Amino acid sequence: MQRFTGIAASPGIAVGKLRIIDRRRIAVTELAVAPEAVAHEIRRLTDAVAATRAELEALRSHLAETTGDDHLFFIETHLMILADERLVSETSAIISSGLINAEGALLRTLGRYREIFAGIDDPYLRERIYDVETVIERVLHCMGGTAPEQLPRHEERVVVAAHDITPADMLQINRDNVLAIITEIGGRTSHTAILARALELPAVAGVDGIAELPLDGQQVIVDGTSGVVIVNPDDEAFRTFLSRKQHYDYLESELLKTAHLPAVTLDGRSLLLRGNVEIPEEGSSVLKHGGAGVGLYRTEILFMNRAGLPDEEEQFGVYRSMQQAVAPHLLTIRTLDAGGDKLLDGMETVVEQNPVLGMRAIRLSLSMPEEFKKQLRAILRVSATGPVRIMFPMISGLEEVRSARKLLEEAKSELDRAGIPYDRQIQVGVMIEIPSAVTVADLLAREVDFFSVGTNDLIQYLLAIDRTNEQLSPLYQPLHPAVLRSLRQIVHTAHAAGITACLCGEMAGDPLYLPVLLGLGFDELSMGAASLLRVKQILRRCSSQRARQIADGCFRFSTAAEAELYLKQQMTLDVVESFD
Ligand code: PEP
Ligand code: MG
Repeated sequence: MQRFTGIAASPGIAVGKLRIIDRRRIAVTELAVAPEAVAHEIRRLTDAVAATRAELEALRSHLAETTGDDHLFFIETHLMILADERLVSETSAIISSGLINAEGALLRTLGRYREIFAGIDDPYLRERIYDVETVIERVLHCMGGTAPEQLPRHEERVVVAAHDITPADMLQINRDNVLAIITEIGGRTSHTAILARALELPAVAGVDGIAELPLDGQQVIVDGTSGVVIVNPDDEAFRTFLSRKQHYDYLESELLKTAHLPAVTLDGRSLLLRGNVEIPEEGSSVLKHGGAGVGLYRTEILFMNRAGLPDEEEQFGVYRSMQQAVAPHLLTIRTLDAGGDKLLDGMETVVEQNPVLGMRAIRLSLSMPEEFKKQLRAILRVSATGPVRIMFPMISGLEEVRSARKLLEEAKSELDRAGIPYDRQIQVGVMIEIPSAVTVADLLAREVDFFSVGTNDLIQYLLAIDRTNEQLSPLYQPLHPAVLRSLRQIVHTAHAAGITACLCGEMAGDPLYLPVLLGLGFDELSMGAASLLRVKQILRRCSSQRARQIADGCFRFSTAAEAELYLKQQMTLDVVESFD
């Protein structure tokens, strides 16, 4: 028996036969070349880039016919990386200055990209390096005249393990014969992991070295919930995981039966439960899990890791796919929330000492008004096709709201002049995720239609705890009195002004916090699709009065640890009572 621990990339447990796909990095040797061979090497490079482009375009047409347009956005990303002139120009420069072969030069270019990406704080942005690696790997294959081994299509049901499984592979996966995936690289926010979750395929990423071992054909257990992979399990491990799997599958299927039940408390108070999404596939998953539309559509993914920014048409196409996926429900589109400008091509690169406190989110959008208006026009145009609302991220005060709204008005006038329809009553909201926004919430509330609390950032800024620093995670406390008081103030201020109070940070998806958020009076919670049914289950067992009692109870304590202990005790009491 061999046990591996990786990153829990997509929940679920699968047991099956391991099928290792030969996706090992191509062994590339850096060779010296004579000055007269430089032109030949550069041509080999440009030919391979052209051949890769042709391959990706063919794949795009094939997928458009077989799986529809919704998924093609990953291939577009790869085409964009390939279209970035710097890939060829920098690699050519390395060939001519270093007098080395094209393969060696391409690997050096990849090394440079790796260094740049490794220095990025935001884990999501950092993991975009996997897209670059995938593209360069394809080019190397083209240079060597080889093709990466394809995923299994018509064979028995297997668990696939490979050095890397690209998003394009994922789209071609036959759900009937792939039970789970294991990759050596990648993380929770890699495109592949996002797709695995959208396709509800258990996945463990970052299992170093597994594809190199002679394990093909062995029995394997994949636990995408805990990130554990066990090859050749002994009887005891097999029984343990089998019963865990049965339990998990049973709970999932039981929960899915409740997808159509209304999200109401025992005494009939409704709470809107919505989903957080990044790609259209997740939109369908939100509806399947009974979500009342989308409370947070993070649009960043479309802007990153590419040459240039997406134009209005491209944005319109992607937002529309999302809107269609969640129709007839509401779609809340958040404007660009990129952290730092390093990955957005065509902009001045400023090295920031504190990127999290730097040129990000709404500040970035306001610093490039024409680009921002493209996004606003694209969102407005989608609002003509179904219910859509706009949300601005990282608002610190009223000036930003006014500047953003002014550009929104300009975008509307431009559409008016062109005779293009949009929803004239479109709602505009702001994320409350900076402490100053909590303090001036009353001023903001007069000029927006809703608040959505981003607890991931609010806790980070309120407690000065870097949300990505694992060492600090015990200090990242949703029940810290400062957080609870802020949440209470936000809801109170929103309701006093007659606007809606939503919450879309990770806190919303943890069933433990449901009574507190309900008791505080939130109108809407938005979370990952996989959390919707569990949260609804707790909601349906709770009364508004009991929730208020629990929320008030939490305020009696001076520390997060005490409040958490109290909350857990109350939740346990309620569960025990519900079985009496
Ligand atoms: C948040 O900060 O809570 C939030 C929902 O936004 P993001 O996680 O995208 O920063
Ligand atoms: Mg945020």
